[in-house]
Amino acid sequence: MIKLDQHPAGRHFLQIPGPSPSPDRVLRAMSYPTIDHRGPEFAKLGFKVLSDIKKIFKTEQPVIIYPASGTGAWEAALVNTLSAGDHVIMFETGHFATLWKKLADNLGLKSEFLAMPDGQGWRNGVQPGMIEARLREDTEHKIKAVCVVHNETSTGVTSDILAVRKAIDAAKHPALLMVDTISGLACADYRHDEWGVDVSISGSQKGLMLPPGISFNAVSPKAVAASEHARLPKSYWGWKEIIDVNKTGYWPSTPNTNLLYALAECLDMLLEEGMDKVFARHNRLAEACRRAVRAWGLEIQCADTAVYSPVLTGIVMPEGIDADVVRKIIYERFDLSLGTGLGKVKGKMFRIGHLGDCNDLTLMATLAGCEMGMQLAGIKLAGSGLPAAMNYLCEYPGGLLA
Ligand SMILES: *Cc1c(COP(=O)(O)O)cnc(C)c1O
Repeated sequence: MIKLDQHPAGRHFLQIPGPSPSPDRVLRAMSYPTIDHRGPEFAKLGFKVLSDIKKIFKTEQPVIIYPASGTGAWEAALVNTLSAGDHVIMFETGHFATLWKKLADNLGLKSEFLAMPDGQGWRNGVQPGMIEARLREDTEHKIKAVCVVHNETSTGVTSDILAVRKAIDAAKHPALLMVDTISGLACADYRHDEWGVDVSISGSQKGLMLPPGISFNAVSPKAVAASEHARLPKSYWGWKEIIDVNKTGYWPSTPNTNLLYALAECLDMLLEEGMDKVFARHNRLAEACRRAVRAWGLEIQCADTAVYSPVLTGIVMPEGIDADVVRKIIYERFDLSLGTGLGKVKGKMFRIGHLGDCNDLTLMATLAGCEMGMQLAGIKLAGSGLPAAMNYLCEYPGGLLA
């Protein structure tokens, strides 16, 4: 515990791209007393979250809720649908794609990483044409799954999932499509059924605005059929028992009841606002953030303007500046947390999260903290980013009265 006398005044600015800050409504909901997870009251909560979460994934199919971080749901997606030695293709978009690939290898799958040349992958989204070409070569259908990340949280780049679906269909290939939308869900449009995704993986602590601790698999009938023959060992992660018990509003083992209260509350908040408004709100703050970065004269990590992330913006540091030193100054001076550069871009960039429970002034305060910190770190900025962001936010209203 932080001792009270060490706790700085005011609220900490948690502007990392997950965990994102939880709204007060969600925190209050979490504080209800834990109830009997086998008692009659619990099933009402179970039915509510199991039904409402489908509206967020835009699916009519079951969504499995695990008491686990997103990594657990990655593993669940693979062990439920595949067998040892199965060939899967993944696409190198950044650090999270790389971690998922490592997890697949650890499970005994044969993973193949498709990548753009010269590290361009970490600045661009998935290239559906490369997936289609690779699947066309696979005339014996040895490839069992295509795994891609919807919003690459390490770089701030999204990928066009429908285009990946179309690439698989154009190659007339039966591989399953698995999508990590751990940070994309409830920030960027996502359509599990319409886009023909077989397993969608998500987590609680990004767009859903909950603390870390639950994660999801949305499944398709084809994925459920594959799970009947998949031979990778699984017990806790097994879909079948969970889906069966969920039909009664309960779980086979103890669910994290208080996080389910929080989930119920956050689903109410998102559905009250309407998902299209939620996405527009994210896009608007992301655009304001990018305008500030351009006014600073700095480079955005995402090189393709068509796939900018609404969740976070990656900011490339000038040569010779260690991004983690800048982050440390900003944290210590302004009580503002920013995302570190992960994997191949460590020290080269930092990330501003503008997801979830974030408004115009949260973003402006964050940008001010970044600007002051970069000046303290000796970075020569081309100009202030603040007026650029402010002008955009004023020009395109998005507040309560908009
Ligand atoms: C956060 C994140 C993960 C990892 O999830 P954990 O909850 O940390 O296990 C995986 N993929 C993406 C895209 C993420 O943003």
